[in-house]
Amino acid sequence: MIVKPRIRGFVCITAHPEGCAAKVAQEIKVAKAASRDKGSPSPQRVLVIGASTGYGLSTRIAAAFGHEAATLGVFFERPSLKGKPASAGWYNSVAFEQAAHAEGLYAKSINGDAFSNEIKAQTIETLKADLGQVDLVVYSLASPRRTDPADGETYKSCLKPIEGTYTNRSLDTDKGEVTEVSIEPATQEEINHTIKVMGGEDWELWISALSEAGCLAEGAKTVAYSYIGPEITWPVYTNGTIGAAKKDVERAAGAIASRHDCQAYVAVNKAVVTQASSAIPVVPLYISILFKIMKLKGTHEDCIEQMVRLLNERLYCADGGAPELDDVGRIRIDDWEMDAAVQAEVAVLWPKINTENLREHSDFDSYQANFLNLFGFGLPGVDYDAETEVDLLLPSACQS
Ligand code: NAD
Repeated sequence: MIVKPRIRGFVCITAHPEGCAAKVAQEIKVAKAASRDKGSPSPQRVLVIGASTGYGLSTRIAAAFGHEAATLGVFFERPSLKGKPASAGWYNSVAFEQAAHAEGLYAKSINGDAFSNEIKAQTIETLKADLGQVDLVVYSLASPRRTDPADGETYKSCLKPIEGTYTNRSLDTDKGEVTEVSIEPATQEEINHTIKVMGGEDWELWISALSEAGCLAEGAKTVAYSYIGPEITWPVYTNGTIGAAKKDVERAAGAIASRHDCQAYVAVNKAVVTQASSAIPVVPLYISILFKIMKLKGTHEDCIEQMVRLLNERLYCADGGAPELDDVGRIRIDDWEMDAAVQAEVAVLWPKINTENLREHSDFDSYQANFLNLFGFGLPGVDYDAETEVDLLLPSACQS
């Protein structure tokens, strides 16, 4: 079929298989270009939870193609159904596996709910059969809901302030209009539910399950991702419900390190365009401004550049040393975003921006292009007017 983008608010409900493959190929190229000499510290057997899009996918690519690591990926994606295109993460994973297998790298994937006991058990079964143990576990889930297997209850996360109503500029990314958004504060129940979904509990459950099954290599590392960002977004992010969940992820890192022979890190990453970040109020406008400033300074990065730097310069430093941490123990790969000069320029542009000058003061065109790229649209070399096969199987599913 011929696949065209169909955007509904902050999601695109179609995805282009060849376009997704082209985007994965671009990231593979970046990871390979940054690969280091054999014998440098590196991950060997990696489990990525949330491996199909955004930061998780890029970590998988950086580990496999920058370090020749064997990777097992867990994600929750929609395969093609009745001739309808699959989700972008499905096509990304098909393309990733094909490229990895072509280079003789181990790559398998498990599609299902990572919060469930069943998917944890299936992952452990696969590890025992194939890799034995993992030396790096990446936790990169972004989900709006979680069914806790302990009580069977489904919790929903929300993006709300905690201390009072938050009003600020936002962006209607579909129409390219700068708007104003006002968000009422969360109830205590909404805060608790967001912590249940996006906090550290499930990360701890994964590490305990892997450890009890003997699947964690001695001195293994694990990393979960967080975000801080500029003060303008703090009421709705860092000091809001999601920030409360991220504080719980930091608590979980300490708990994991104290209970297991495992180095547990929280890495604070840069703001990038992903399916998760496009749903956060205010953030797309901030990202559009940030892109313009960081591109002018030559420090712009996307997911893959961030994850290459995380692996090569922080988790697996060339000298084999421990990563540098901030005063509360986090890895800061958002250092270039949070650079004082960058943030000072954001603060100057923020009050000036409106619908009329959006393209002058920000790189909204790149934001929109990046957003379409997430779903495999707008990639060079792809013929979007041609028929394309949408019913693609995951190569590793065909093997089992
Ligand atoms: P994303 O939406 O691109 O990826 C989410 C991944 O989680 C996908 O692989 C998806 O399949 C998987 N997933 C969701 N629910 C699942 C479930 N129930 N079972 C199995 N897999 C499931 O998100 P992202 O932006 O890459 O976010 C990943 C992490 O990075 C999050 O912790 C996020 O807070 C953090 N982060 C994101 C940004 C940003 O700007 N996007 C910045 C800093 C940190």
